[in-house]
Amino acid sequence: MLIDLPKNQRSRLTERRTGAASSLAETDANLALLSLVSEKLQAQAQLKFQGDFLQHILDAIPAPIFYKDVQGVYLGCNTAFERYLGRSRDEILGRTAFDIAPAELARIYHQADQNLMDAGGVQVYETRVLGADGQAREVMFHKSVFSSAEGQPGGLVGVMLDISERKEAEKRLRRLAQYDPLTDLPNRVLLEERLAEALGGKNRQGDQGALLVLDLDRFKEINDSFGRAAGDEILVEMGKRLTGSALEGDTVARLSSDEFAVLLLDGRGKRDMTLEAKKILALMNTPHFLEDGQEVQIGASLGITFFPEDARDGKTLLCNADLAVHEAKLLGRNTLQRFTPAMSETLSRKREVLAQLRRALQEQQFFLQYQPQFDAATGRLVGAEALLRWRLPDGSLVSPQVFIPVAEEAGLIGPLGDWVLRAACLQAKAWRDAGFPPLRLAVNISGHQFVRPGFIETVDLILAETGVDPTHLEMEVTESTLMRSVSSTIEVLTDLRVRGIHLAIDDFGTGYSSLSYLKNFPIDRIKIDRSFTRDMTTNPDDAVIVQTIIAMGKNLGLEVIAEGVENAEQRDFLLRHDCRYMQGYFFGKPLAAEEFARLGAAAEALPS
Ligand code: C2E
Ligand code: MG
Ligand code: MG
Repeated sequence: MLIDLPKNQRSRLTERRTGAASSLAETDANLALLSLVSEKLQAQAQLKFQGDFLQHILDAIPAPIFYKDVQGVYLGCNTAFERYLGRSRDEILGRTAFDIAPAELARIYHQADQNLMDAGGVQVYETRVLGADGQAREVMFHKSVFSSAEGQPGGLVGVMLDISERKEAEKRLRRLAQYDPLTDLPNRVLLEERLAEALGGKNRQGDQGALLVLDLDRFKEINDSFGRAAGDEILVEMGKRLTGSALEGDTVARLSSDEFAVLLLDGRGKRDMTLEAKKILALMNTPHFLEDGQEVQIGASLGITFFPEDARDGKTLLCNADLAVHEAKLLGRNTLQRFTPAMSETLSRKREVLAQLRRALQEQQFFLQYQPQFDAATGRLVGAEALLRWRLPDGSLVSPQVFIPVAEEAGLIGPLGDWVLRAACLQAKAWRDAGFPPLRLAVNISGHQFVRPGFIETVDLILAETGVDPTHLEMEVTESTLMRSVSSTIEVLTDLRVRGIHLAIDDFGTGYSSLSYLKNFPIDRIKIDRSFTRDMTTNPDDAVIVQTIIAMGKNLGLEVIAEGVENAEQRDFLLRHDCRYMQGYFFGKPLAAEEFARLGAAAEALPS
């Protein structure tokens, strides 16, 4: 090792060693010199020890560490740094980033180093580094300036953290938060972002465009009939069709289970965007062949709203498009509806009804009327249908056709339906206790009520509470309710049947029952819908439908009752075609309980 002594002392020592005589004084001087040499040696050994020790510590740290001088020349690094770059210390030290990294990255490091040297202190930034495997990886640098012995900037020391995994996870999370995993389409969150951007984000004027929302028709049925996997397959297929028809710049998103949206932007006029919407409608309607070869035709209901004219904010636009879809569904599916301000008025009317409904439940503004049902062949009163009525504080009546759908949508049908069932059971029991002949009392059960968890338990509770004989009770469920979820429907119907409750399909003929399902439903009778009864004596088509329903009911061993019978001609037509049970204004309008009791007492008096 080279000992760094002053030059003059080095030569004097050599002289003395070779000289012949030495005085005591000279010996002292030599000793002093030797001691100086030894101190220096010790100091250097100490320094080397400290240097080695420091290197040892650095090598024990798993994070890559390096230090450079002010020119960016690597002065040192640890083993983790060597390993990370896949280069030995000899290949690194004495070189700059430009010698060991791709130029484009080296420029970034160099610029950052310059900034740090100018500003001093600490610097943290994220960039990429070419790893030992030749792949660029995401890293975070923590760099700080160190000073020389003279107090000048001596260079910088850097620690490098590999954040590739964290970045990857962040990317996955971001994707998860903004994309639908099934169809890989943007979700509602991303659509709302794009919509906000289109409506005039930070630096933009605001585009013109249209928002389309489409809801697949009868998707739930397909899911129920063909299984979830087929349902998923259809959703993916519909997503592909939409993306395939979209132009660059349009956004196709999946909003919820069977609801999609398309954001059309710029360049196209209103006419073209409407044409585009029609094209999409036709596209949704083309049959799809499932993996197992089965053909399904699904179709969609479509709502369209334009901006900026219909609204200037995303929330309102989405709401508008939803309203238009809702309208399209009401108009018979597979249709396109443009949003109109009248639709929001209907919505506010609904909100009003909802607020009133809540109050009505608390203030007991509901009551039941009873419409008689007759066996027209014998003239016997055989039963009644309980019909819900709502009297407002001003005395006016609201039709169940107006408030039942609102209550269903708002989730209020549960408590309301329970109230109806309890009130009807109490009435049936009271009539029985008063010595009335056994009558079957029919209660309408809403689809929402029917599929609610705990429905059977509520029925049991009400039966126990009121003490009514379940065989005196009939529940009317509409055809569309039964078809909504066939397997769970059969389960609920069977549960009711084993309790002795009779079951009827209401408004029969207006839905799309499949005969094979009908055979499997444990039901007792079908009610021919009022619309057929009304026209059967004037419209040959309706006459055929009524005759067919009667014949089919007979074949399946079901009782058939016609509702909405208003005149003798209709009664005679039905009797001629072997349908004896009837309900309608001809026999009696819905009556208050006391009036019905009077009718019951004079049951034999039939209008002729
Ligand atoms: P629905 O179950 O088909 O009830 C028969 C409807 O036809 C009743 O109307 C009844 O008043 C009416 N109607 C009966 N005979 C005739 C007739 O000869 N001519 C005409 N033009 N109409 C007749 P309402 O009471 O307005 O009820 C309408 C619908 O509201 C019911 O149709 C039913 O779906 C629903 N609804 C009524 N009460 C309840 C209830 O307690 N719960 C549920 N979920 N729905 C109910
Ligand atoms: Mg009914
Ligand atoms: Mg009906």
